[in-house]
Amino acid sequence: MRRRLGSFLLLLALGAACQAEPVTLTPRDTEPATATRQDDDPSPTTPLLEEVVLGTSVQGRPITAHRVGVGTQKVVLIGNMHGGTEANTYRLMVGVLAHFRLRPEVVPEGAVLWIVPTANPDGLLSDTRLNARGVDLNRNADTRDDPCPDSRWQPDTHTSEGIIPGGGGSEPWSEPETQALRDFLADAQVVVSYHSQWGAVLAGGCEKSPATLRLVETLRAATGYPVPETGFVAYPVTGDLTDYLAERGVAVATIELTDKVDPELERNLEGILAVLDGLDAILAEKEENP
Ligand SMILES: [Zn+2]
Repeated sequence: MRRRLGSFLLLLALGAACQAEPVTLTPRDTEPATATRQDDDPSPTTPLLEEVVLGTSVQGRPITAHRVGVGTQKVVLIGNMHGGTEANTYRLMVGVLAHFRLRPEVVPEGAVLWIVPTANPDGLLSDTRLNARGVDLNRNADTRDDPCPDSRWQPDTHTSEGIIPGGGGSEPWSEPETQALRDFLADAQVVVSYHSQWGAVLAGGCEKSPATLRLVETLRAATGYPVPETGFVAYPVTGDLTDYLAERGVAVATIELTDKVDPELERNLEGILAVLDGLDAILAEKEENP
């Protein structure tokens, strides 16, 4: 029963309250960029919880990652690459973090869960999709060698509203936010990136690895989001972080929340818990099909 979500009423209330409020960063997210703090823990061993600043945004705000667990199988949840227009993914990550802070022992012994509430704090505060230099942070990864030509990094990018000149950045990894993510994810084994609003689970990468497909199926079964057979086809996607990670052997998926408002905390907690439960099977796919 330890995986049952006992405090859901409380958390759902939190999620509902968040929906109605304007976006504000938590005090933790607005601390000075140099802050690195570990939670007080009387035990002499590594504490179960830790907060680390990965880097700073264009405007100097910290990009923070929260660790839960002490294992070596690194699972990373990335929220809010698209700032204020996808603020519900930030609220989702805040809710997920609150859940795991109350019960860090839920993370399996061999695993370590990292939660990045916002990869785009400037965009979140200014209510924009892009960062403070007008770059789409999920179009700035170096995918120039991607096997799918259509996924390769481009200087100009697309959204449902049209073309963003310079949205890819002056070059791959031109932005401090994406540099911080790239470096932090260098040893990640499983990554889930949260966006809105297509209501789907999407596999990262041109050719989907068995480990990625196992991750996607685990998320689909637990969250109920569909997996579109065609992938994402609404508009061209270049320089996507998940495509970059997939080419480097990471099991990686995108979750698209259903709309731009609801953080959909409950179903996504179920998804994350299922990934942690099935982590050995996901990683076994990597061993067998490197
Ligand atoms: Zn997005």
